[in-house]
Amino acid sequence: MSENNPFEMAQKQLYDCAEVLKFDSDVVGMLENPMRQLHVSVPVKMDDGTTKTFPGFRVQYNDVLGPCKGGIRFHPEETIDTVKALAAWMTWKCALLNLPLGGGKGGIICNPKELSEGELERLSRSYINCVWKFIGPEIDVPAPDVYTTPQVMAWMMDEFSKLSGKNQFGVLTGKPIPIGGSAGRGDATAMGGMYTIREAAEELGIDLSKATVAVQGFGNAGSFAATLAEELFGAKVVAVSDSKGGVYNPDGLNLKEVIKHKAETRSVINAPNAETITNNEVLELDVDILIAAALENAITKENAGNIKAKVLAELANGPTTREADEILFEKGVHTIPDFLCNAGGVTVSYFEMVQNMYMYYWTAEEVYERLDKKMTKAYHEVLYASKNHSINMRKAAYVVAVSRVVEAMKLRGWV
Ligand code: NAD
Repeated sequence: MSENNPFEMAQKQLYDCAEVLKFDSDVVGMLENPMRQLHVSVPVKMDDGTTKTFPGFRVQYNDVLGPCKGGIRFHPEETIDTVKALAAWMTWKCALLNLPLGGGKGGIICNPKELSEGELERLSRSYINCVWKFIGPEIDVPAPDVYTTPQVMAWMMDEFSKLSGKNQFGVLTGKPIPIGGSAGRGDATAMGGMYTIREAAEELGIDLSKATVAVQGFGNAGSFAATLAEELFGAKVVAVSDSKGGVYNPDGLNLKEVIKHKAETRSVINAPNAETITNNEVLELDVDILIAAALENAITKENAGNIKAKVLAELANGPTTREADEILFEKGVHTIPDFLCNAGGVTVSYFEMVQNMYMYYWTAEEVYERLDKKMTKAYHEVLYASKNHSINMRKAAYVVAVSRVVEAMKLRGWV
């Protein structure tokens, strides 16, 4: 196994948690590997008349709490170990939010940018042909992930429905709204993050209407987060960044202008009425709230000591390394860990499943109200565990989530 193997990292995090909770080896033995992993060969008739076969996976990590849930990724560098790690993290994320779901993940090794629309549709349908007997609304419910879109979900749901001889809208989530998608799914991740930031601010006595915010990563999650921080709280967003650099205005950025500039030039840099700064300077600004919404390993032992924010909200997956985590904890930076902060997406996916089962659809307001309740409760459970065990918020999130999975395994007589 390589040094940066994501599945090894996921296993290490489980072992750390098992130490805090003093699990015996039977429990660890059952949780350190996925319950089931499926390797498939996905044949696709290409536009030039040849047939190409793509390797694909579906991993069902643990379903003690309910059907597995997790995205399908189309990526040229997809590996079974990445899928296994992501399936493990989905297990803990669903348990943390108290969703009646287990964890799963899928992927196909392919480069979607090199496929025509027709090839992409045939690839999506062929994958379902390979895995359909092992998924379903009561077994395993996939969703979009990197390079898979609502349209891909629509083709997959249609193929599954044809194979099973009836409409099965609930087999996948992240669908377009006219065919069983949920209102509020688009900005669910950022919205969920906002609810946890609101609770953290209250805990720390920060008045969000006077707070300053910096956002690293002005993509899908980050741009919604910046806009919502301003709209919901009246906070002042002073800096945002993307892969090319950042922009800063101590009096607050005009976000509409920055969004327009990014749409025109594909970057935030050189947006009007703002000073251009580096990516690292954005992370180290003296702000109340830092939202990490770019990629993994943004905050390392090299820059963690310079972080001045009072709250670090991890909308991205894995933005903080293990060493940086300890430095931030000692400095008193209040971290809202990734699988709590960005759990709004899977929570609204679960709401989509519920609406599909009832064939009755909620308004966006109803979705947000229910999301708020779930996120707020999970935040306080993690905060309580962190204080109770004197551990950082990330370890506390693991403690809450993994103990729920273990309790269910014991009740069902699995261990
Ligand atoms: P995205 O590709 O839309 O946005 C990522 C942004 O980060 C881009 O603007 C990119 O330019 C920027 N970026 C890359 N490197 C950077 C750097 N060094 N400094 C500053 N900015 C940099 O992706 P996204 O969907 O917004 O996802 C972002 C993160 O949030 C990922 O870790 C993802 O797993 C996580 N996440 C997203 C969702 C969601 O619903 N979109 C849900 C859960 C988790």
